[in-house]
Amino acid sequence: MEFDVAILGGGAAGLMAAARLSERGGLSVCVIEGNAKPGAKIRISGGGKCNLTNVSVSENNYLGDEILVRSILKRFDEHALLKWVRARGCEPVVRKKRYYFCPRSAQEMIDILVNSAIETRFFLGDRIEYVRKEQGGFLVTTDKRTLSARNVIVATGGVSYASVGATDVGMKVAESFGIETVPFRPALAGMTLQKEQFWMKALTGISFPVTISVGEKRLREDMLFAHRGISGPAVLSASLYWEKGTLSIDFLDGRSVESLLKGGGNKKIATALPLPKRFVTEFLAVLGVDDKPCSSVTPEEKTALQAFNAYTFAPAGTFGFTKAEVSKGGVACGALQPFSCESRAVKGLYFVGEVVDVTGELGGYNFQWAFASGRCAADHIGGGLKLR
Ligand SMILES: Cc1cc2nc3c(=O)[nH]c(=O)nc-3n(C[C@H](O)[C@H](O)[C@H](O)COP(=O)(O)OP(=O)(O)OC[C@H]3O[C@@H](n4cnc5c(N)ncnc54)[C@H](O)[C@@H]3O)c2cc1C
Repeated sequence: MEFDVAILGGGAAGLMAAARLSERGGLSVCVIEGNAKPGAKIRISGGGKCNLTNVSVSENNYLGDEILVRSILKRFDEHALLKWVRARGCEPVVRKKRYYFCPRSAQEMIDILVNSAIETRFFLGDRIEYVRKEQGGFLVTTDKRTLSARNVIVATGGVSYASVGATDVGMKVAESFGIETVPFRPALAGMTLQKEQFWMKALTGISFPVTISVGEKRLREDMLFAHRGISGPAVLSASLYWEKGTLSIDFLDGRSVESLLKGGGNKKIATALPLPKRFVTEFLAVLGVDDKPCSSVTPEEKTALQAFNAYTFAPAGTFGFTKAEVSKGGVACGALQPFSCESRAVKGLYFVGEVVDVTGELGGYNFQWAFASGRCAADHIGGGLKLR
């Protein structure tokens, strides 16, 4: 069997590439997917409602090469994605003034993608094994067949959530062609604690807004104390930028502890601070300060209480690939053309979506990247970068 384009992986990026190639028409296209149904990660995403994009997306929301990310996103940004989805009868809803979700279920997004890929031949339940170069194109070998294709789009994603079919075959394909890769690591995952922070485990279930600083990055969202450590959107996004070493949490999310104590008068500290009482009581014990009237706090205690605005510690690690929403790392950005995600070294071979060393924060950024990069590769193969 011969195709103009073989798309490896029927997830977000691969389905968008197939949809775009179908819209353009004129090329024979196949999608090879290991699962019996395409879009497994879309189905479980966003609590079953798929957070497909964000009200504001820029290269600053990603870990990855700025030039590549900016160049791809500008070709298919959040507005273009929303327009595309709305034109297919789905009106995404905004939650927390930031996140766009499918109105009813993530299946709506899968249906839109699959129904837009009408010209595509699907090989479902085929495990991709390897890709070889041949005269004028490539040979793709699965556990069931060998296909020949003039172009190959590798959209096999990362390795987190192996339970829904994730594999590292995309990395292996890149490496077999001598293309540089960066090892996958878990990201958008909860974090485990060293024993000095085990006091947090007693607070399981408590959640409130915080600001977490990791290096130059500031992440403002909710944090959740969990049985295994710390979690919640702020921690998940912080895990993207954290490798090893310390991070710092402002439990008061920008409000100064000093001013709150000043305004607290004779109120006790745990009443004056706008935080869950259980948390304040536990944290005061860690800081060695009694829960006393704000007016009687000593200068030394004031210094210790600064930790409410900047509690700095080194997490032990992350919850790992089984719980991580994404894998950071992947095919090195520098190995790809910034306008198409085509390999600089191997013409006709493209890498899109999570298999590329570009990873977004929590909030729809990873789907936006997957959709935009899949579409750019399709447009480049179709030969019409200007087409919108
Ligand atoms: C629980 C969870 C919730 C998430 N929620 C969100 C969210 O709300 N918003 C957001 O932006 N991101 C979310 N993400 C991240 C998002 O799902 C991914 O970043 C995105 O799906 C990446 O798209 P992709 O096409 O690159 O990879 P995928 O969507 O993972 O697609 C890759 C496809 O390749 C197939 N494949 C892999 N190896 C092989 C092989 N050897 N043979 C055949 N097929 C193979 C897989 O089965 C899969 O279908 C979530 C992730 C998880 C795990």
